[in-house]
Amino acid sequence: MKPSELETMRKSFNTVKERSSSIKDIPSIKRLTSRVQEIKKYSFDNKDELFNQALESFKRNDIEVKFAETSDDALHIIDDLLEEYDAKVIAKAKSNTLGEIGLKEHLNINIIETDLGDRILQLKKVDNKPVHPTGPASHLSVSEIAGIVNESLGVDVGPEPKEIMEVVRSDVLKRLESAGVGISGANAIAAEEGSLVMVHNEGNISIVSLKDLHIIVAGIDKIVPSLEDAISVVKLETTFATGNFVTSYMNVISGPSKTADIEKKLLKNMYGAERVVVILLDNGRSEAIEECLYCIGCGNCIVHCPVYNAVGNEFGFNNYLGGRGVAMSKFIEDDETCFNSGLYMCTLCGLCTLNCPLSIPTNEILENMRKLSTDVGFYPKAHGNIMENVRKNNSPY
Ligand code: SF4
Repeated sequence: MKPSELETMRKSFNTVKERSSSIKDIPSIKRLTSRVQEIKKYSFDNKDELFNQALESFKRNDIEVKFAETSDDALHIIDDLLEEYDAKVIAKAKSNTLGEIGLKEHLNINIIETDLGDRILQLKKVDNKPVHPTGPASHLSVSEIAGIVNESLGVDVGPEPKEIMEVVRSDVLKRLESAGVGISGANAIAAEEGSLVMVHNEGNISIVSLKDLHIIVAGIDKIVPSLEDAISVVKLETTFATGNFVTSYMNVISGPSKTADIEKKLLKNMYGAERVVVILLDNGRSEAIEECLYCIGCGNCIVHCPVYNAVGNEFGFNNYLGGRGVAMSKFIEDDETCFNSGLYMCTLCGLCTLNCPLSIPTNEILENMRKLSTDVGFYPKAHGNIMENVRKNNSPY
């Protein structure tokens, strides 16, 4: 990332820090935090039972469910579905899980990002990795964004947020007219009801879910016992991600669009998707350390991480940013990826743990991983003469 991008990112992070630090000490939010800690612990301890219950509930609700052990499995399932629908354009919502499986890199068809931040990064084309799970373009100034939009859409907007938003919105809506398939992740899954909960401010997930086919890719760690639990999880995520109590929209999807308003005859595809397919992704989660799976994706760890604030998104793995992303990369990929994602960049300061609503001990996890990584040959090595390197670069490496 460029120094100016890092500076803009730090400014945005400071705003989030101020907002979330004032809200997290409110008694109701403290109670919610304890409740979500219990929910995530219970969900991990009963993961097999909840997984099977979710399968049954989805079936009952007429939601098709498929299991993907790896990213490749998930991509094959998506390929088959898109072929069936002869999809040329798809509407996509923001999702770390879709980033994890490498959807955009894999597909040759036209994917339209519907989240404004993601769409700006998509138009940027190069060096367009997100910097925060809910604020992907927080490192770009309004002038830079105007430049990106003007160059890629051939328009002439000024550095005015509203003007930029309106131009991008009308362009996205026009491009989505021919899209028959929508794809998104999910913030939480309720096993008992067979419901998927998604939060957003822009209303874009509603658009994605109105296409003929809605594909939802979600990690198996998103499954919690009930809809009340799922809503608690997304509420806490919102609080720590944005400093607000709720987002503008909370979609709960529990089946395809249907109506029985004419002689009680069941008809599908009234306004929303006629077919909902959920792909439950493992991709290393079964092997992952319990606490890594507690993550609710608020991104508060990276906002407070000194390393992330200094170097940005090169500390982390794909869309899993910062120390927790480094830890997950060991299970999603391997020791080498974990090493290359920044295993030795972490200062082990523990600020991420202090600011994590789930108290995920990322520093301890990474410290243990370093020991294991050293055993298999992945550790920082000095190149050449150490003293000469120090004299030349002020660093032994
Ligand atoms: S322990 Fe590591 S990952 Fe956590 S805040 Fe400190 S430097 Fe960042």
